[in-house]
Amino acid sequence: MSESSSTVVHRPSDQQPAPAIRGARIQLVGLTKRYPGQAEAAVDNVSMEIAPGELVMLLGPSGCGKTTTMKMINRLIEPTSGQILIDGEDVLRFDPTELRRGIGYVIQQIGLFPHMTIAENVGLVPKLLGWKAARIAARVDELLDLVGLEPSGYRDRYPKQLSGGQQQRVGVARALAADPPVMLMDEPFGATDPITREHLQNEFRKLQRELRKTIIFVTHDFDEALRLGDRIAVLRDRSVIAQFDPPERILSQPADDYVAGFVGSAAAIRRSGLTTVDDALRHIELDPIGDEPSGASVTGDDTVRDAIDVMLRSGSNRVTVTDRAGVALGGLDFSQICELWTRAGGHDVR
Ligand code: ADP
Ligand code: MG
Repeated sequence: MSESSSTVVHRPSDQQPAPAIRGARIQLVGLTKRYPGQAEAAVDNVSMEIAPGELVMLLGPSGCGKTTTMKMINRLIEPTSGQILIDGEDVLRFDPTELRRGIGYVIQQIGLFPHMTIAENVGLVPKLLGWKAARIAARVDELLDLVGLEPSGYRDRYPKQLSGGQQQRVGVARALAADPPVMLMDEPFGATDPITREHLQNEFRKLQRELRKTIIFVTHDFDEALRLGDRIAVLRDRSVIAQFDPPERILSQPADDYVAGFVGSAAAIRRSGLTTVDDALRHIELDPIGDEPSGASVTGDDTVRDAIDVMLRSGSNRVTVTDRAGVALGGLDFSQICELWTRAGGHDVR
């Protein structure tokens, strides 16, 4: 439980006085999107209010309408009906291009321009806004510092010369470039490996304590929602809000079975990070080697959570378990892991 308990206490334990809030208030009022030709709305009558400087997590399964909700806020998608107010102003009355320059946007695919240097990528919006070269250069260095990339070592590199985690940091720096009061982050760390993701989450949490921007952060990872969010909006299909509360309240008082399902599976996933594959193999037998994708392998020392991450990244529900010398011992199937959880009945299987 160490992860979630540290999440729950991190804000009250801040020692410095809180820096000034620089975010804007966001209000969604009856926001609805119907895609042409679809019988059901993708986002159905969503209303929520986000305070200046607040970091709100939109948590829900794939396809529930998270991205559609986000893209309406910066008008990459036009709402069918409803209103979006930023500091009381209706964004539908703004020029969409101007609006997007005032909202930082970070996505999973990062979207750095491959033919532009890191400095050019980060300085893109300031350049579009007509800043002078010297001011842009100073801002770029400041931002690279902020996201933990030594400016002199990185500013002249190209994206492909950086790791996935470093590129994602550049993506965050770029979104912050013009100091927007609002940031939208759509599964920004979703494509990174678990260790990098945890690093990025921790850095981002520290960053937000200084920035105090209004941030809407989409995730399907409950642990990520717990770790980062001031409040979490747990979404059902069509972005319908099942519960919108601080993490500790979601954990202690889930509004219904749907929310409780996230809480329960999160506990199981946390446990899986403490259980090694060797522990699991005391309870389940490996399948004979079958159609596991090549390269998708773990050893007995890896955790069950590592095994699940390998599965997610390889797009398969199976991994090969090898001994320390790399010799394949057998196949581990996701359904076996689920069975193990069920059998453990919520108890630690170690
Ligand atoms: P999420 O980000 O939560 O995975 P999305 O907002 O991407 O969900 O999608 C919500 C629903 O809208 C899904 O059923 C998806 O298939 C549908 N959808 C998304 N984009 C379009 C589109 N351009 N045209 C038609 N349907 C779409
Ligand atoms: Mg999405």
